[in-house]
Amino acid sequence: MTHPSENLLRALPKIDECLLLLEGHTPPGAPRQLILKAIRTAIEQERRVILSGGSSSAVSSEEWQERFLSRLAEMTAPRLRRVFNASGVVIHTNLGRSVLSSAACNMLHLAGGYYSNLEFDLHTGQRGSRYDLVEDILCDLTGAESAIIVNNNAAAVLIALDTLAGGREVIVSRGQLVEIGGSFRIPDIMARSGARLVEVGATNRTHLFDYEDAVTPETSLLLRVHTSNFRVIGFTSEVSVEEMVSLGAKHDVLTMEDLGSGSLVDFSRYGLPREPTVQEIVKAGVDVVTFSGDKLLGGPQAGIIVGRRKIIDRIKKNPLNRALRIDKFTLAALESVLREYYDIEQALQKIPTLRMLTQSPQQVEERCVRLLSLLDTALQRDFSIKSVFSRVGGGAMPEHSIDSRALYYNGEVTIQSLETGLRKMAVPIIGRVENGHFVLDMRTVQEREIPELAQELNQFLSSTDGEIRG
Ligand SMILES: *Cc1c(COP(=O)(O)O)cnc(C)c1O
Repeated sequence: MTHPSENLLRALPKIDECLLLLEGHTPPGAPRQLILKAIRTAIEQERRVILSGGSSSAVSSEEWQERFLSRLAEMTAPRLRRVFNASGVVIHTNLGRSVLSSAACNMLHLAGGYYSNLEFDLHTGQRGSRYDLVEDILCDLTGAESAIIVNNNAAAVLIALDTLAGGREVIVSRGQLVEIGGSFRIPDIMARSGARLVEVGATNRTHLFDYEDAVTPETSLLLRVHTSNFRVIGFTSEVSVEEMVSLGAKHDVLTMEDLGSGSLVDFSRYGLPREPTVQEIVKAGVDVVTFSGDKLLGGPQAGIIVGRRKIIDRIKKNPLNRALRIDKFTLAALESVLREYYDIEQALQKIPTLRMLTQSPQQVEERCVRLLSLLDTALQRDFSIKSVFSRVGGGAMPEHSIDSRALYYNGEVTIQSLETGLRKMAVPIIGRVENGHFVLDMRTVQEREIPELAQELNQFLSSTDGEIRG
């Protein structure tokens, strides 16, 4: 006696039959390799269902065709996709951190679609250096003597330590031995660079004498690290930049500051917490300063190192530099974004990260009103505009909440269906959940995104609502 599942397994179609079934139905130009993969994975999945006893009848040809085509559509669709960030987290690492200005996007287009003078000096006709395209701009903006850019700030810290510590001792406060997202830990990076970590002070308090007591002839560097996504509060104390610089000068030891987010704008003028700017740290006399390109700066992923010419020259000559080098896209976008900073008011308007961080709650509310007005009349009563708090994100200003506005959903669709359903839209919508409500925080949604966002919400909610109200 044959088991019913054996008949079902035997009834699974052969590849050739499937190809025949799809003839004239696959999108023009669909790669044969992917068509075959779509067929195999769909059949394989059905085989598993049969083996687990989950199938009682054979799949029809129409059903197979549908399954193959939907697999194929998934396989041929771009994987990296645009999304709506309605989470209210401005520098959202999982959603790509900073959105670039339109000028920067234009430059990316040119750099990608055409040849460029990336390493070609148009004055002399000789070979040029890619870093020359932005170095003087960075020096203008930060007041530093020299600059170099690498792949990201983690790489910046690595190459700086590798160059400057030379296997000798680096003194860091215990309160600054932080882990920044995923696997970037200061002690680990230090170990990789061959530097020997000398921890001083206590988790909450480190004094100048702690550093001073630790200085030996083996000391190569005094390092301060921005604690970014972490705050020690209460009875705390850290050594100031000025103290570190004067101690370094006294003992003829180099100084370095990893600023993390690193901003060129004093955000306290726009209602955000006071953070030292890159210019201020440079002015204090630190030898090397590192910061990210795509956090508070609002540019592409990059690690920017600025400081004294003598020191930066050494970093430029480090063979690691070749391995950590930035590409033409980074340079194209970075040059464009940096240029905006010559006029801070312009920068606040044109660089999306800065614009989103500094907009007033009223400006955000206007976008809520606009979105609401574009929703189907029947859906409008399911939403209300509420005061909420947005976040800076990217490990910057972790405790700070930005007064903002959002649309709260009060309708009958569950949070779970909203979250998963909206994530599956053509342009996925990422909101957040707050006080038992699904929330669309409009601080991180740009004006020009609103019509399409409204259209998707109408599409999703009118169909889902219909099902529920049945
Ligand atoms: C974010 C951060 C880094 C890592 O920067 P990436 O650009 O993400 O590599 C390093 N140090 C500090 C203090 C940071 O905040």
